[in-house]
Amino acid sequence: MKIFCVGRNYALHAKELGNAVPEAPVIFMKPSTALLKDDKPFYYPEFSKGIEFECEVVLKICKNGKHIAEKFAKDYYQEIGLGIDFTARDLQSQLKEKGLPWELAKAFDNSAVLGNFVDKNTLNNLEAISFEMTKNKELIQAGNTQDVLFSFDYLIHFLSTYFTLSTGDLIYTGTPAGVGKIAIGEVYEGYLEGQKMFTCEIK
Ligand code: ZN
Repeated sequence: MKIFCVGRNYALHAKELGNAVPEAPVIFMKPSTALLKDDKPFYYPEFSKGIEFECEVVLKICKNGKHIAEKFAKDYYQEIGLGIDFTARDLQSQLKEKGLPWELAKAFDNSAVLGNFVDKNTLNNLEAISFEMTKNKELIQAGNTQDVLFSFDYLIHFLSTYFTLSTGDLIYTGTPAGVGKIAIGEVYEGYLEGQKMFTCEIK
């Protein structure tokens, strides 16, 4: 399976990192070894002093496809989840400065927290899904997918132009503003439409 991630998909987040709002989706990938599931804790890695959280809505691909037209994109995902794209921001800044790929900062082990999924048919409005994350029970990030620069359907169309999408592939659809550093001892909890989707303790 493949894990696609979208960078800078919310204008306010692009701004907070000092990036321009992109004209096309910014795409990167994580390997399957990046997945952290079942509410397992995240162990702070030694190679970074600046790991940041990015809470993101996750799409699970339910059908193989290539060159998917935007109007058919909804057939390719049935379940919607929530996760965290952990980012070694210190490494990423160094890599970005040198124009180098981001993998070391983005694709490391356990960098993709994955919570529960809900059936898309249980959601009121697929184009406006609210989500939030708390740190030690305090709200730290809140977003709504109506604010994305590139819709889920467009992302599926765009990705499938370059990559064959396979059942089980995941798409992390980008983080809203409000990213910040994590520290050992903190507990993160994610909610989609008010429903608890994951817990992640930093150890
Ligand atoms: Zn992200």
